[in-house]
Amino acid sequence: MSTSVFVSGATGYIAQHVVKQLIAKGYKVVGTVRSAAKGDNLKANLNSENFSYEIVEDIAVKGAFDEALKAHPEVTVFLHTASPFHFNVVDVEKDLLLPAVEGTKNALSAVKSFGPQIEKVVVTSSYAAILTMEKQTKDYTYSEEDWNEITWEQAKANPIAGYVGSKSFAEKAAWDFVKSEKPHFILSTVNPVYVFGPQAFDSEVAGTLNTSAEIINAVLKLSPDSEVPSTSGFYIDVRDVAEAHLVAFENKDAQEQRLLLADGKFASQDILDIVNENFVKDVAGKIPVGKPNSGSEITSASAAINNEKTKKLIGHPFIGLKETVVDTIQQILNVNGKL
Ligand code: NAP
Repeated sequence: MSTSVFVSGATGYIAQHVVKQLIAKGYKVVGTVRSAAKGDNLKANLNSENFSYEIVEDIAVKGAFDEALKAHPEVTVFLHTASPFHFNVVDVEKDLLLPAVEGTKNALSAVKSFGPQIEKVVVTSSYAAILTMEKQTKDYTYSEEDWNEITWEQAKANPIAGYVGSKSFAEKAAWDFVKSEKPHFILSTVNPVYVFGPQAFDSEVAGTLNTSAEIINAVLKLSPDSEVPSTSGFYIDVRDVAEAHLVAFENKDAQEQRLLLADGKFASQDILDIVNENFVKDVAGKIPVGKPNSGSEITSASAAINNEKTKKLIGHPFIGLKETVVDTIQQILNVNGKL
């Protein structure tokens, strides 16, 4: 009998790839979604009898996952990916911090109380739970051991700090839960940097994409004389992030580990260079050229990442910037036609 995996927030950008890979490997998947319409859409895209869904409208509500888990005693793995990732918020505490933290606590409490058969839990955390603004200098190298020490008050200052805080406090809540409650399951986390790459299904390509993929989509919305956006950081492809969720529960060496998913650095200039070089017919004269090959002037000033431990667990090189950008743009152009 195949293993059943529970995936919260199954309609998310990353989660759809996770579910797709799970189904492709023969797992059964129970996803939580916020509405039947969203669940039916995902089920149609997956076209698999091995996918079913439960509705959890709001992960922040106490007991949010209790009924869904009671209904699925066959589930032995729980992947908690649901968490707000956008900056369009009115109240940082209510819209970002509380859903992330309470959602994680609700997931783990439900597993402890109603999923005694669940052996592994993987929480999707973030590089945001690792980095610290004060250490963002070229002399510092982050690893799986680092922790963001942002305070709750600092996190309430603005939506970006709010998101960073939401991931830090949610991940801490997960490890604290394991320490204090001593549950029967084993925890691991997946901590990605900016996640790029195509949507799991062409039908998910919308005018505005999820927060991270939109960084690439946004390049297509520039005018030839636009300033090059100032966005820079580390990137990882969504297909590698999805695979890491599977490795996190399949590989014994990943137990109780934080998997730091990062391939390399990018600046918006690097994205522009790749788009301008690979889609000449589509974009020539329509988007800026900027100062080609100068991305490293920006990225060389920032801290480094050493994630050798995670790379060893994954066991193959990550998808590089060129492939992740080309695949993202190609899908957008295929769906939308010309710019
Ligand atoms: P996404 O597409 O926005 O997915 C987030 C998912 O969580 C959606 O299914 C969303 O449902 C659900 N969700 C959010 N708030 C909820 C709530 N209060 N109740 C129920 N469901 C809720 O974002 P993503 O990029 O795939 O992110 C998935 C996870 O990866 C998050 O934990 C995020 O913090 C983490 N992460 C992402 C990146 C990145 O660059 N993308 C990097 C590091 C970590 P609806 O869409 O229906 O609202």
